Amino acid sequence: MSVLRAQATIDLAAVRANVAELGSRTSAAVMAVVKADAYGHGLLPVARAAVEGGATWLGTALLSEGLALRAAGITEPRVLSWLLDPADEWARAVGADIDVSVSAPWALAAAVAGACEAGRSARVHLKVDCGLGRAGCMPDRWEELVAAALAAQSDGAVAVVGLWSHLAYADDPHHPTTDSQLDVFRQAVKVAEAAGVTPEVRHLANSAATLTRPDTHFDLVRPGLAVYGLSPVPEIATPAGLGLRPVMTLAARLALVKRVPAGQGVSYFHRYTTERETTLALVPLGYADGVPRHATNAGPVLAAGKRRTVAGAVCMDQFVLDIGDDAAAAGDEVLLFGPGDDGEPGAQDWAVACGTVSYEIVTRIGPRVPRVVRDLPVRTP
Ligand SMILES: *Cc1c(COP(=O)(O)O)cnc(C)c1O
Repeated sequence: MSVLRAQATIDLAAVRANVAELGSRTSAAVMAVVKADAYGHGLLPVARAAVEGGATWLGTALLSEGLALRAAGITEPRVLSWLLDPADEWARAVGADIDVSVSAPWALAAAVAGACEAGRSARVHLKVDCGLGRAGCMPDRWEELVAAALAAQSDGAVAVVGLWSHLAYADDPHHPTTDSQLDVFRQAVKVAEAAGVTPEVRHLANSAATLTRPDTHFDLVRPGLAVYGLSPVPEIATPAGLGLRPVMTLAARLALVKRVPAGQGVSYFHRYTTERETTLALVPLGYADGVPRHATNAGPVLAAGKRRTVAGAVCMDQFVLDIGDDAAAAGDEVLLFGPGDDGEPGAQDWAVACGTVSYEIVTRIGPRVPRVVRDLPVRTP
């Protein structure tokens, strides 16, 4: 396969298969989380493939992301956008049939105002903070928020269609915090239902909980990372071990290959020095493209048939590999990460090398790297 200077190939068959795999593990409906440009994979192709794989819901953080789905003609799945602020266009959300999250009285008022302006009721998911300490209504204010929402519902301004929350430690399946969060969530659901809420969906589980904690599934699961074929529990299982296939392959063409003598300092500040005469290969990707500067002397790359390690500092547009006496030429393809079919590293290997999570590796691949959609049948091992 010939590649551009650099490209991220996006395997849509893998998206479909991953969503189908997640759906096969639960009786709950599946919301594919496609925030942040589908974790850097490209919003619209991924959203369509996720729906083809069986997702009946799509989730985004920003309203603009939800609106982009509707504007592209993705009208069938339900869409929930959960990170709106008071200045957001709540009426547009209602008009575009996008469900919104409500964690506080001001958000309920914004939903009501948006509904009035749009001339239809707003579909709201009331969010309780069951222990993450991020979005959501604190449990001591929950009854009050539920009562206000029910009053707005009886006026026809809103429909309370969801009750939801989010986990703090799902990537550690046996963490006691998950059990205590589950207790708080169940109690909040009980309180809301006793007050008269009849939710379409109660939902709590992200990817890790979808894969490891069936007791968190309720009516709807919200996987993000697993849709992209990456393991949300890397200490416990690889993507393959979870029946998932990584969706993104990041490749580049070498921009220069040259022989250098022993003792050659490499890249800014000479943070790498050649030990003997050797061949250096220049990869035209840098931190402006989302290759972390923390990958300096650490990031793994498949080049000239072997795994190499970034030599010296990652620069804005480029970094260097020391390929010893192996043969390579300008224009040869190298792989930074992918599903591993050719022995290339995974996004998780980059995460470990850079002291981060695979979420950050894929989402930060920048707009200068074209996403090239590939839609082939899933490889069977
Ligand atoms: C991002 C996000 C998800 C998906 O999380 P993953 O760990 O990627 O599965 C689910 N719910 C909420 C509220 C999120 O912000």
